[in-house]
Amino acid sequence: MRKDSPSIIIVGGGLAGVFCALKLAPTPVAIFAPTPIGYSGSSFWAQGGIAAAVEEGDTPESHANDTVAAGGGIVEGDIALGMAQEARARVEDLAAMGAPFDRSTGGGFLPSQEAAHSRRRIVRVKGDVAGRAIMEILAREVARTPSIHIVEGYSAQEIVMRAGRVVGVRARDNAGVIHDTPCAALILATGGIGHLYRVTTNPLEARGIGVAMAARAGALIADAEFVQFHPTAIDVDADPAPLATEALRGEGATIVDRNGRRFLLDIDPKGELAPRDIVARGVFASIKAGNGAFLDARSAVGAEFSARFPTVYGSCMVAGIDPSRELIPIAPAAHYHMGGVWTDARGRTSLDGLWAVGEVASTGVHGANRLASNSLLEAIVFGARVAADVRTTPLSPVDWRPQADRIEPVARDRDFAAIEELRDLMSAHVGVIRNGAELAAAVRSIRRMMSRTNDIEAHNMLTTSLFIAAAALARHESRGAHFRSDFPQPDAALARRSLNTLDTVLRIADEVEA
Ligand SMILES: Cc1cc2nc3c(=O)[nH]c(=O)nc-3n(C[C@H](O)[C@H](O)[C@H](O)COP(=O)(O)OP(=O)(O)OC[C@H]3O[C@@H](n4cnc5c(N)ncnc54)[C@H](O)[C@@H]3O)c2cc1C
Repeated sequence: MRKDSPSIIIVGGGLAGVFCALKLAPTPVAIFAPTPIGYSGSSFWAQGGIAAAVEEGDTPESHANDTVAAGGGIVEGDIALGMAQEARARVEDLAAMGAPFDRSTGGGFLPSQEAAHSRRRIVRVKGDVAGRAIMEILAREVARTPSIHIVEGYSAQEIVMRAGRVVGVRARDNAGVIHDTPCAALILATGGIGHLYRVTTNPLEARGIGVAMAARAGALIADAEFVQFHPTAIDVDADPAPLATEALRGEGATIVDRNGRRFLLDIDPKGELAPRDIVARGVFASIKAGNGAFLDARSAVGAEFSARFPTVYGSCMVAGIDPSRELIPIAPAAHYHMGGVWTDARGRTSLDGLWAVGEVASTGVHGANRLASNSLLEAIVFGARVAADVRTTPLSPVDWRPQADRIEPVARDRDFAAIEELRDLMSAHVGVIRNGAELAAAVRSIRRMMSRTNDIEAHNMLTTSLFIAAAALARHESRGAHFRSDFPQPDAALARRSLNTLDTVLRIADEVEA
């Protein structure tokens, strides 16, 4: 074993994983990711930016209050406040690395407005390219940091446990062979779950594998039922669906039906700037009623569209829509998972030797509904916290390199049929508007598919889906992003986070089957 060998493995090369690795430097660390570091994950695609109280007169307390208000009564208030308090320092860290945030003529940050924030609080880059700009800077930093070992082309599938402790990770390389790699600390940073759904804004690798790996190893999973649907995915039949950033509505773009009516004002006085779940349900209902839904940025942005929102402009033009002159057809799409692997304020999971950070984790800051632009923030705040915690935890040295002598035969074929069936099922029965009968049917089908498939990737996707569907079935109320047409109101007695293990969701599935 080399002297500088890392005994710490990070699974996932998005903002959370890479920021954590940089904060760990010079402590050696290996990052496992299926695709090139810096250019993968939702982080690269983020358009709006990072929420932080940087405007004159704004405060972390106000930011935390907005976070709590959006979260449907189950946000961990002290954790949300801590995150808001550390926001400016972490954004400054990125700026110091070279992230080209939009600046005022005086050189300060130039934050913009997004839905359900009481202030202009979103630190952006050239309107809508924050994610790409930040990840390019971080990829450059990683290349300059000798303590970070990149292990590209590896998809993790399983956590290796011994005597109740994490001792390694099992991953599949691009050639389809399985490697076991020992580690003393494992940090999951695998991102979200969007691709469990048919319509999603997330990149292909957002398949909920990290949640399933942790659950199969025995970890607690929190708030799995809370999936945020973005109300303004561009509805042009693309997979993933391109996104029309919320910032457009912050700049005054409206949502109308095919008759030009702003129907959201019937549902909430804040109209287009109401919380995401309300806007998503309004858009969903208008489409279901046959009235369609469209984003109208013609007068709010108009001729400046291509310069101010180049990513959205490009997505529209590819589909033959000129958003400076035409309405943009929209639909809700699975966008963000508030739930995930339960962690404490340091990012520790319920398993010894396992941390989770970024979208795969459930720290409790988002509650039942994430406030816009709080997820990139969570990735950097908790990325730094996990690094600090892991660095001060005594770890025994291990030989971290993927062990070729332990290659096992593996079925190369993906169970595409199961994956496609699952995605349809999740969108149809575990989507924007849910009910008990459809959720029970979904739990039953997922359980059956789990027992049929031999593909570990499909099995992991099914496992995470089972957590979402079973937790949604067990929550007999509507709260935040979780809306049940058979229980349309919140129930004060249920105003708490959900916690499940694989055993408890399998029990729910058994009860449904009985
Ligand atoms: C289109 C879009 C726009 C968004 N805009 C914003 C925004 O403006 N502001 C905001 O705050 N949030 C935004 N979000 C949400 C935000 O981008 C994500 O929540 C955040 O980037 C998550 O970061 P992450 O590092 O946890 O995950 P990701 O960036 O998704 O990275 C996950 C990493 O894990 C890897 N991975 C996955 N599975 C495995 C596996 N089995 N083995 C190994 N590696 C694996 C992936 O390849 C990737 O490298 C947006 C999301 C989308 C999709």
